[in-house]
Amino acid sequence: MYELNEKIRDLVPYEPIAGSYPIRLDANESFLPLPDGLRAKIAETAANIAYNRYPDPLSADVTAAFAAYYGISPDLVTAGNGSDELISILSTAFLMKGDAMMVILPDFSMYQFYASLAEGRVVVCGKRDDLTIDVDAVIAKAKAENVRMIVFSNPCNPTSLGLPREEVRRLIRSVDALVVLDEAYMDFWDQSLLGEVEEYDNLVILRTCSKAIGSAALRLGFAVAQPRLTRVLRAVKSPYNVNSLSQAIGTLVLAEREWEADARERIVASRKALQASLEALAAEFPGAFSLYDSCTNFVFLKTDRAKELFQGFLDRGIAIRYMGGFLRVTAGSEAENAAFLDAFRALLREGETA
Ligand SMILES: *Cc1c(COP(=O)(O)O)cnc(C)c1O
Repeated sequence: MYELNEKIRDLVPYEPIAGSYPIRLDANESFLPLPDGLRAKIAETAANIAYNRYPDPLSADVTAAFAAYYGISPDLVTAGNGSDELISILSTAFLMKGDAMMVILPDFSMYQFYASLAEGRVVVCGKRDDLTIDVDAVIAKAKAENVRMIVFSNPCNPTSLGLPREEVRRLIRSVDALVVLDEAYMDFWDQSLLGEVEEYDNLVILRTCSKAIGSAALRLGFAVAQPRLTRVLRAVKSPYNVNSLSQAIGTLVLAEREWEADARERIVASRKALQASLEALAAEFPGAFSLYDSCTNFVFLKTDRAKELFQGFLDRGIAIRYMGGFLRVTAGSEAENAAFLDAFRALLREGETA
């Protein structure tokens, strides 16, 4: 019998959520579909792609569009098949077997997954009780454990909290490790380090088109780093990692700046409204749950009844994310938020009478 090795033996395929639910607030996607005018351009572009040819290995056009969108040099940018692929590439390339990679938990679960596949040693640093990051603790542990790479999201998925830019700078400057700063949600906040990435020889910033840009279907992410690191990333990625359709459509989407700015405003407004309604609900049902500040397009709740509430929402056709004693809820359309809040009130009332 063929024997599977240890690192893959117990893995199971990623399944975000089983079953089909009319209201999906579980994956932090944008609730806004791309506008009709843009869809028409996409259709025309898609009809004219040279499907018999391999894609551009350096994704030059979409990289230029991304760089222009954020006002940085394209020489600092590497395109990936989602930032997920870039996390995988970074782990495989920058870790030797047994090298320590630090995560700051709770955080995005894929970091540990890819580090383990790369045969890295995962070092865990906790957060404070209020789920904020203690930068001094991170620096001390990085030194003590001889950490080669630190990966974290800012703002953070799942906590929705942001670490102020000055603290991130201090962290990067205080460690020898490569710092992978995942800014997947930074379009919703204003503390990006994109503009100063060239000042650091140990910083890689990740961005994605899957959240604020509203294009999760494209699988398009970007790594931004100074030229020495960028050269490595381009050298170690697989040659045709971003397909021609995603390159072409991504180029069009990133050119729609007005629409993107408007979409971002609407998403942030939705999250603020959701947060305000939840605060009111928390006041109505004291002790039922508490809410974290949010710098993202989702909210994060702490509750002793997380599991039962999660199931209650599913029974009502609403998918959210359950994480231990916490719930994560993506800001949706007005109607989706309203349905979620109605269901929440009903579940909390049921809990009172139970
Ligand atoms: C959603 C998300 C991503 C995006 O991944 P893609 O592969 O680009 O879709 C990356 N990091 C975090 C923390 C996320 O929540």
